[in-house]
Amino acid sequence: MGKLLRRVSFVIALVVVSWLAYGPLFAWSPITPGFRTTHTIHAVIRFRDPPGLRVSPEAIEAALVRLQSDLGLDFESSARFLLCDEWTDLARFTPWLRVSHGVGAITLPIGLATYVTPVVRNRDDLLDFLTHEAAHTLLYQHASIRNRLEMERQAWFVEGVAVHFGNPTAYEPRDEFRRASPPDVIRAIDPTANLNQRGVGGFRFSYSADGYFVGYLIEQFGHDRLIAFTRAYVNDPAAYRVEFQHVFGVSFDDALRDLVSLPSESNGSH
Ligand SMILES: [Zn+2]
Repeated sequence: MGKLLRRVSFVIALVVVSWLAYGPLFAWSPITPGFRTTHTIHAVIRFRDPPGLRVSPEAIEAALVRLQSDLGLDFESSARFLLCDEWTDLARFTPWLRVSHGVGAITLPIGLATYVTPVVRNRDDLLDFLTHEAAHTLLYQHASIRNRLEMERQAWFVEGVAVHFGNPTAYEPRDEFRRASPPDVIRAIDPTANLNQRGVGGFRFSYSADGYFVGYLIEQFGHDRLIAFTRAYVNDPAAYRVEFQHVFGVSFDDALRDLVSLPSESNGSH
C-alpha cells in the first residue's frame, strides 16, 4: 500500500510540474515546444515561428536602453516577453486571470513576465507596446512586492510613464485630449477621485491623460526632476503626494489644476 501511495504521489507531482512548465511558468521553462526564444542583453522574448518575432532584437534592446535613461533606473534582470498569437495562449499562461479581449499586453507585478495578446501581436507598433510594458517591469524591479501592489492603484504615474516613453501614439492625440473638459481630465488622473465618477471615455482616455500629465511634468520641471521623483516613488509609492511636493515644489493637486488650465496654444510654459 505504501509503495502504491508513493507511486501515485510521484505521478501527481509529475503532472503538476508539467502543467506549471506548460502554463504559468512557461516564461521561465527550459523546454518550450512550438516557441522560439531570443535573448538580448536586457530581454528574453518567446514567440512562435511562424509568425516570427516581427521586430528586430536590436530595436528591442535599443528601446530598453533608452528606457533606462528615461526613467533613471537600470534593469536588474531581463525583461521577459511572451508573445501570444491566440487568446488560448494567454489563458494557458495565466489561467487565473480574466483578461478583457481589448487588452493589448499585460505585465504581472509578481513574476514580472509580460504577455502580449493577439490585439497587438501583429501590429506595426508592437515595439511601442513592448516598451510600454518594459517601463512597468523596470519600475517593478526597483520596488518590493508590497510596493508593486500599491503602484497598481496609481495609474497616473505607472501608466503615465509607460504611455509617455513607450507608446504615446497609441492613445488620444494631444489636440483631441485638450478638447476634453478639465474636471474629466482631473478625474481620469487623480487616484483619490471618486471611483464612481471616473472612467470617462474608458481606459484609453485615462491612459492618454496619464501620459499627457507625465509629459507636462517634464516640460514644466525638467527631465531630471522626473527622474528624481521616479527614484523616490519606487521606494514608497504610497507617499507620492509628499514626494511630489518635495521634488516638484508644487502640490499634486495644484499641478493637475495647472495642467488643465493651460491655454491650448501654449506648450505648457507659464
Ligand atoms: Zn500599462
